[in-house]
Amino acid sequence: AKEEGRNTYRFYTAGMNARSRELLLLEGGLRQALDQDEFIVYYQPQFDLLSGALVGSEALLRWQHPQLGMISPLDFIPMAEETGLIVAIGNWVLKSACLQNQLWQERAGRPLQVAVNMSARQFRHADLLQDVVAALQESGLSPDLLELEITESILMADVEQAIEVMRQLTVQGIHFAIDDFGTGYSSLNYLRRFPISNLKIDRSFVQDVTTDPNAAAIAQSIVMLAHNLNLQVVAEGVETAEQADFLRSVGCNLVQGFFFGRPASAVEFERLYFK
Ligand code: C2E
Ligand code: CA
Ligand code: CA
Ligand code: CA
Repeated sequence: AKEEGRNTYRFYTAGMNARSRELLLLEGGLRQALDQDEFIVYYQPQFDLLSGALVGSEALLRWQHPQLGMISPLDFIPMAEETGLIVAIGNWVLKSACLQNQLWQERAGRPLQVAVNMSARQFRHADLLQDVVAALQESGLSPDLLELEITESILMADVEQAIEVMRQLTVQGIHFAIDDFGTGYSSLNYLRRFPISNLKIDRSFVQDVTTDPNAAAIAQSIVMLAHNLNLQVVAEGVETAEQADFLRSVGCNLVQGFFFGRPASAVEFERLYFK
């Protein structure tokens, strides 16, 4: 709408199509959600598959809509990305997650890490480094306990820029994970160049490891690749004991999924894991 300039009047009356009207409504809703604390961060535990120890969590955003109830990030993150509000929302998640994790690890008396999802726009934003450093400083969280999750498509959109941004952040001690690994356009040659410390095996492979030999082969190959590159590997979306057994048998050490724990509010997470 900004570019419309002097045509604003016409824009709002006749020229506005359903799509932009919907976007404007949603943008208003999202902005209000941020101002009125309608967002909440859920946390899903990650465990060490051998010892069973809690190693940390992934922060997952939810929108508690006053009328519509709990809204999945899948339903509003694309809009937030389109309107640019994802930057402010993502920053809020980052701050919340760092604060929460610092409290938890003080309580646990040992290091716990927290993983935060990055959107494309957030990752490309000029203030990213500054915002991440501010979140760490305000929370007192040690940088090496923060992991930023990035998808392959975000990395591949501009490889050189991605490497530079990641380099600046890894210098601070922050870690990177490639999210949904195996689903994007992955070039192993680029993988080698990104300063990452973790691969997350996409749920689509994990859910089929016990029924589809190809999914099993892919999951096993990702575990081997990760270990040969000295990376950690997390299997996400583990829903059954059989999947967990398979993952253990191929040497995958970290797991996340409904079988081990669903995403939960901070209060619920504490009740479940800090007894
Ligand atoms: P993701 O990063 O791949 O997160 C994992 C998703 O899988 C989460 O969905 C989680 O609840 C779900 N999940 C975990 N374990 C299982 C399981 O065993 N079975 C099944 N069927 N699902 C499982 P959720 O929370 O709805 O988030 C969806 C996506 O929204 C995330 O996918 C991520 O891409 C995005 N997202 C969530 N929070 C944020 C955020 O703060 N910022 C950004 N930019 N994106 C976010
Ligand atoms: Ca993720
Ligand atoms: Ca994922
Ligand atoms: Ca995903």
